[in-house]
Amino acid sequence: MKELLNDAAARSLRYLESLSERPVAPSPGAVTALRAFDTPLSPGPTDDRETLRLLDEVGSPATTAMAGPRFFGFVIGGSLPVTLAANWLAGAWDQNTGLFRPTPGTAYLEQVALRWLLEVLRLPPGCGGAFVTGATVANLCGLAAARHAVLARVGWNVEADGLFGAPPVTIVIGAEAHPSVTKSLGLLGLGRTRVVKVPVDGQGRMRSECLPVISGPTIVCVQAGNVNTGAFDPIAEVCASVQPSGAWVHVDGAFGLWAAAAPTLAHLVNGISSADSWATDAHKWLNVPYDSGLAFVRDPHALQAAMAITAEYLPTQSDQRNPGDFTPELSRRARGVEVWAALRSLGRSGLADLIGRNCAQARRFAEKLSAAGFEILNDVVLNQVLVSFGDADRTKRVIEAIQADGTCWAGITVWQGRTAMRISVSSWATTDADVDRSVAAMVRLNHATA
Ligand SMILES: *Cc1c(COP(=O)(O)O)cnc(C)c1O
Repeated sequence: MKELLNDAAARSLRYLESLSERPVAPSPGAVTALRAFDTPLSPGPTDDRETLRLLDEVGSPATTAMAGPRFFGFVIGGSLPVTLAANWLAGAWDQNTGLFRPTPGTAYLEQVALRWLLEVLRLPPGCGGAFVTGATVANLCGLAAARHAVLARVGWNVEADGLFGAPPVTIVIGAEAHPSVTKSLGLLGLGRTRVVKVPVDGQGRMRSECLPVISGPTIVCVQAGNVNTGAFDPIAEVCASVQPSGAWVHVDGAFGLWAAAAPTLAHLVNGISSADSWATDAHKWLNVPYDSGLAFVRDPHALQAAMAITAEYLPTQSDQRNPGDFTPELSRRARGVEVWAALRSLGRSGLADLIGRNCAQARRFAEKLSAAGFEILNDVVLNQVLVSFGDADRTKRVIEAIQADGTCWAGITVWQGRTAMRISVSSWATTDADVDRSVAAMVRLNHATA
């Protein structure tokens, strides 16, 4: 075991050390070579060292350098070194962190991490929280708590009786809501399209003057950080407008919620703490390994009512927090360990620096690309930049050239009818020099693209 794990550590280090110079995307040859994995299932045991060797020699080249400094696709953070180390140790612990009693160490780390998170994200200190796989499931948790609460207020127990015969629930979302919100609504029986859509402005922000008149059980979904522009819905205004009529406000803040941790950006989240539930990711901007998302609910009982589990064989009785009473999963890995390690390592100022630095780097991208003659389609308020290289076809071809070149990686989107390259700066590993090197490659490849 010792030799095997030392070998895994050595191989991991070699991989990580190669990331800043290797092409960001895997070569087509590396992808073809994956066939080496597809052997007939071995009739008996095989050598473990050989299994690891094959994983590294065939698997590592077929990865995208998402953990490296010049991956700007989607919204992808790297892994802070201390979080990868914590992940290895927690893997060795192999704790099934559903219940406190059998796994006090990892369950306790989650309690502390939750308190720290509420502090840095400037959310109400009494919130309930769930450590889940990502913002999709965090949205599901927040909306499940919302569904419980708005129906309980009109005397309906949705966990017991389902939605058959229940009073109707009005769902209000912005026209640019993330698809994970609509997916969660579908899973909860609230319907992906049975929603009232509020029109948005040119940055994707909900126009609060267009909110419907609220009556009866209602959930309003707002967004902190549009996945294309980084823009924030006017959340304080929405809360002030709909909460007096009893509506529940849920915030999808998969990456935008972290603006609260940087004093220079905190104006973006003003008033956000008056909402009722919030979803965010730790695997994006907190830079912990996949998968790691977080849900927070002002009234912990609403979340617990939606998620709690009991059975004779489960030691659920505890005066401590049972993680599995707040999440869709029962058996689960101890995601809070890496979150705790990241926050302890960075401290308040380190986290503020990380968030602020990535936003400054997004502005650096925008300034340099604009100076090179390209159009920036969004107001760069956070870490997202939308770039046009001309018409849709040309922009598409330049992005393909950038991805094939391998200096950096950025994805494609269509923003309000215009094809654009999306740059998302979300990694602890990105330096200003990485931004400059990426801009130089983009300028070069634009010239080379006819
Ligand atoms: C990434 C993202 C999500 C989904 O998060 P996952 O971690 O992929 O589940 C939801 N909303 C927004 C705004 C996002 O950026």
